Amino acid sequence: MRMHETRMLIALVGAALVGMAQAPLSEMDAHINAAKAAAGLDYRATFVNLCFPGANPALANPAAARAGGAGQAGGRGAAVARGTGATPDRATWYASPYKIFDNFYWLGTRHHSSWALRTTDGLVIIDTNFAWATEPEIIDGLTTLGLDPRQIKYVLISHAHGDHDQGAAELQKRFGAKVVMGAADWESTLQRSPTAAGGVPARDVVVGPAGMKLTSGDTTIDIIPTPGHTPGTSSYVFPVKAQGRALMLAYSGGTLTGAFGTNAARWDEYIESQKRIAKAAADAGATVILSNHSEYDNAYTKARLIAAKREVGEDHPFVVGAEGVRRYFTVMAECAAASKLRAGAK
Ligand SMILES: [Zn+2]
Repeated sequence: MRMHETRMLIALVGAALVGMAQAPLSEMDAHINAAKAAAGLDYRATFVNLCFPGANPALANPAAARAGGAGQAGGRGAAVARGTGATPDRATWYASPYKIFDNFYWLGTRHHSSWALRTTDGLVIIDTNFAWATEPEIIDGLTTLGLDPRQIKYVLISHAHGDHDQGAAELQKRFGAKVVMGAADWESTLQRSPTAAGGVPARDVVVGPAGMKLTSGDTTIDIIPTPGHTPGTSSYVFPVKAQGRALMLAYSGGTLTGAFGTNAARWDEYIESQKRIAKAAADAGATVILSNHSEYDNAYTKARLIAAKREVGEDHPFVVGAEGVRRYFTVMAECAAASKLRAGAK
């Protein structure tokens, strides 16, 4: 074979191999490209974690990670990883509480968020955190902000994983708060050992598959079932006041898909859920997107930016506009569609 023939053969074989490798990927790539475009610079972590779930072993196996809740991007202390409930070094997680809008407050650690909504008939806490954060972040945080923890009326749990629900039982027991959670997640919660970190809350308000509207005083929270991350995951759409004006918020209740494997029904359920919450958010005119992990909504950074000088044209750091909210849920749905194909779920 002459040299030029050899080169041509190599070129042909190469082209064939590239063609073979790319053909089955094209649909997945289209979803990834759609997610990437929707993510822009705003939702990079959501894009990476959902479109490439295998890239981080802890994210690929949230079941193991959630035993102690240390699965969020690695090494938050051995005590957490073992799920003993012991408090990790405060220097690695403590964050001051922040007022976000007139009647809405952030009570998170640097990684996980808990929120307080002040209504005319008491406080609504959205997601708690690990048990060790209840006192320093939620209870002391409320007090620091001039709010009274005894006024906590409801505790909404977006889904029953330790990094969001371990504080629920204590708030229920100490302040008589009613705990609100999806039906399926109540079932898994009630099966926990009484010695589980933070204890086990008693079943109060059960959110069924049709969702519900929960009213506290002047504020109604639209609770939208978004099963997928867990079977009972809930997301929320609700109003707050910003300098006296009503503002709608959308709250994404569960994010990672790393444990779905080849379970096509679970992928499809998750994708449907993102479409459902995206529509509810759009219908309500939501212009703020929130998560329970700062990794996804940059809550900790944004909370501190509220006090920073704004240039002309810059809005409140949490306000991303209706388009920004829509893009967030597009990232979730498109990445899930891509990851479903990669997992070979049919
Ligand atoms: Zn979770």
